Amino acid sequence: MDELRSKLFYEQKNGYDLIDTAERIDAEKYCKAYMQFLNDSRTEREAVDNAIRLAEKHGFVSYVPGMELKAGDKVYVNNRGKALMLAVIGKKPLNEGAVIAGAHVDSPRLDLKQNPLYENEELAYFKTHYYGGIKKYQWVTIPLELHGVVALKNGETVKVVLGREPDEPKFVITDLLPHLAQDQMKKTMAEGITGEGLNVLIGSAPYADEGKDRVKLAVMSMLNDMYGIVEEDFLSAELVAVPAFDVCEIGLDRSLIGGYGHDDRVCAFAELQAILDVKHPERTCVCLLCDKEEIGSEGVSGMQSEAFDTFMEDLCESQGVALRRCFEKSFCLSADVTAAFDPLYPEVCEKRNASRVNYGMGVCKFTGARGKSGTNDASAELVAYLRRLYAEKGVIWHMAELGKVDQGGGGTIAKFMAKRNIDTIDAGVPVLSMHAPFEVVAKLDCYMTYKGVLAAFED
Ligand code: MN
Ligand code: MN
Repeated sequence: MDELRSKLFYEQKNGYDLIDTAERIDAEKYCKAYMQFLNDSRTEREAVDNAIRLAEKHGFVSYVPGMELKAGDKVYVNNRGKALMLAVIGKKPLNEGAVIAGAHVDSPRLDLKQNPLYENEELAYFKTHYYGGIKKYQWVTIPLELHGVVALKNGETVKVVLGREPDEPKFVITDLLPHLAQDQMKKTMAEGITGEGLNVLIGSAPYADEGKDRVKLAVMSMLNDMYGIVEEDFLSAELVAVPAFDVCEIGLDRSLIGGYGHDDRVCAFAELQAILDVKHPERTCVCLLCDKEEIGSEGVSGMQSEAFDTFMEDLCESQGVALRRCFEKSFCLSADVTAAFDPLYPEVCEKRNASRVNYGMGVCKFTGARGKSGTNDASAELVAYLRRLYAEKGVIWHMAELGKVDQGGGGTIAKFMAKRNIDTIDAGVPVLSMHAPFEVVAKLDCYMTYKGVLAAFED
């Protein structure tokens, strides 16, 4: 009976029962590099800058329209500093399709409003407008840092990073003390902290003179000294408040990584490292670091933008290939995180189909909500292809469903790739506390996602 059982039944094993010591060492090495990347990449712009730096070290050059391209050439296009497209030209022509991996580098955060600075009762604040799906109560009473750019009228752009260095000041959103929170505590978690209540405390010492708004004046005067900006410059700024936690190992066994922005820089780094490592691919490999996924892939730097089509058309034109011929033969791994089963909240998942920490890359045949609304829903044939490929290449993976039926749902860039007539499937790292200021992933899953992307590139 046991023999028959093992022959007929499917059993998913914990990844630690499947990998050997040599591979665990490789995983550690990989995760160390990832932790550094995540620590240094707090916004989509910083992720793109850091990715370009790594890519250039590996021989990638900025693509110039009309450039002659041959097998093995490595090019990238920087889409307005917020999204990045990289390609390694394959031996086969593009009418045989490309292998595309797409992940996003934007994460939930608090954007400063365009008129952010005000003083109230001799304290100075920045008003914010949250970006992406957040549980607002998680963003109060944690250290925050400021990142972004201020575009000046004269055409210059000033970069801002404030609070990242250990000796730099941080910022915070305050909350009520429990002693006086009787009324607040009766509210639902959705209502207890409001969007307009997410105001970042940035200073308290007044400017040494008479008059009103003395704290605001002191703050503005310091910002002027540091960055040469005046209040009007906020109108054309993109400044964001993000958690000021350092990325760190979690657990006595150091098997997990805690940090801000794993969604989706953990998959972005996996595909970036994979395209840096791929050698002489058969088909052209494309790595996409996209922006705006957290708000529906809109905008000129999101996956709905034709910046991607333009890049691919340029590559195709250099070989005299029609873009649509390339797309219909291409394969896209939409690399995005998935919700890991959390034993503290078992009620929202259906255990037989939920994604699990340490079970490797989570493959989502479908995402969406209710009756699978809004999903790409990869074909059975595409899943079979991955099963075959990952069995061959020793990639540990499992099937992952985003929560119980009718519990909620979500989406990724997958449907926007599928719309272009590209066979697409979602796959990525399972995350605990997704979209929180401090998310948790497992090292084993990070490494397997890298292996999973590399396997597709090398196939
Ligand atoms: Mn995501
Ligand atoms: Mn997300």
